[in-house]
Amino acid sequence: MTQASPPVVLVFAGTDPTGGAGLTADVLALASLGCHAAGVVTAVTAQDTTGIKQFSCTDTELVIAQARAVLEDMPVAAFKVGMLGNSEIAAAVASIVEDYPDVPLIVDPVQNSGRGDALADDMLDGALRSLIIPQASLITPNSLEARALAPGADTLDACAQELMSLGSEFVLITGTHENTPEVIHRLYGNMRLLETFVFERLPGSYHGSGCTLASACAASFAHGLDPVNAVAEALQYTWETLKHGFRTGMGQHLPNRLYWAWEMDEPESEDT
Ligand code: PLP
Repeated sequence: MTQASPPVVLVFAGTDPTGGAGLTADVLALASLGCHAAGVVTAVTAQDTTGIKQFSCTDTELVIAQARAVLEDMPVAAFKVGMLGNSEIAAAVASIVEDYPDVPLIVDPVQNSGRGDALADDMLDGALRSLIIPQASLITPNSLEARALAPGADTLDACAQELMSLGSEFVLITGTHENTPEVIHRLYGNMRLLETFVFERLPGSYHGSGCTLASACAASFAHGLDPVNAVAEALQYTWETLKHGFRTGMGQHLPNRLYWAWEMDEPESEDT
């Protein structure tokens, strides 16, 4: 018997040998949420859980060839853009997704790692603003990325307004890096704040949380959820992956994208 196919999410991502961030994070999150991840490698990084050592971008022609191979073979239900690395790759990705205006485009505007190491050249910022963000259904910057992408804006609300003015339909600004007792995430759309999501602040520092969240959003869009519910479910899932995270290296914790499968294996306590 042939199984019904899960929705396919085409991911543009860098690789991370720790398995914490990048393509591995995307594949785990998407699979965990009932999607099939097709992965276009935009860059190869050398990093561990303490920092980036080096990275090299994929040849642009090869990025295009990877994407075209998938798009000519499979129906794609959503695109997810993570690390692009340079403006030339961003332009190529922009021209590919332009051919699929009805497919939701979820953008994690990666320019630095959460620890501050560069993951892009200086030109990527402009390419994100002029080529990628105008096509985005949802962009998921953390508050530091939002300020970097909208340098003229003096508040996070103003950053969101600017990113929507550039063309992103919805903007989710995550609040982990803000100095608040709880973590406050804000979703904007139709040029206004739509919803605020408040989560308990977890004690660890996590590697790959942004990738996990944007992929979870892509999964929700691929399943056809409306944007507010899509983001609500993705945030809850991501928080659970962090809560069940683990520290296997010497630096940051890794989210456990398959926490629910591990829970199924836990022996039942005697009094239940
Ligand atoms: N490495 C790659 C390939 C990434 O795509 C990203 C973020 O998207 C990172 C590292 C950084 O992850 P974090 O910000 O969680 O440290």
